[in-house]
Amino acid sequence: MNLPRPEMLSTIDHIGVAVEDIDAALSLYRDTLQMPLIHRETVEAQGVDAALLDIGGSHIELLQPLGPDTTVGKFLARRGSGLHHVAYRVPDIVRALSTLNAAGLRLIDERPRTGIRGSQVAFIHPSSTGGVLTEIVQP
Ligand code: ZN
Repeated sequence: MNLPRPEMLSTIDHIGVAVEDIDAALSLYRDTLQMPLIHRETVEAQGVDAALLDIGGSHIELLQPLGPDTTVGKFLARRGSGLHHVAYRVPDIVRALSTLNAAGLRLIDERPRTGIRGSQVAFIHPSSTGGVLTEIVQP
């Protein structure tokens, strides 16, 4: 299956990392690895306390669940902390979702929802992306 460019995925917007303790994770990423912390936000709609660190124009997104019944909480219980998702930037998320849907990918979100920093985001199920939970983001 071929996806048209360049209106589709333009760059890696961020890598999502699930963590048990965001302050401990910040101590690693901000203090030891010296990535600047550029944003911190509780995203109630996604059930996470999130932090964005800058790395070469892309980001690491640390995600601590707000509770065990959230998506990230369940992920942590099942898999433990670690890589959670890869997020690609798109210029037009509605158009991108429609193209991905037409290409046969299994969408978790049929419509965009609000993510960190007021972005529009949508997730693609890992069963149709080779086991990688995939997010698309329109900043
Ligand atoms: Zn993300």
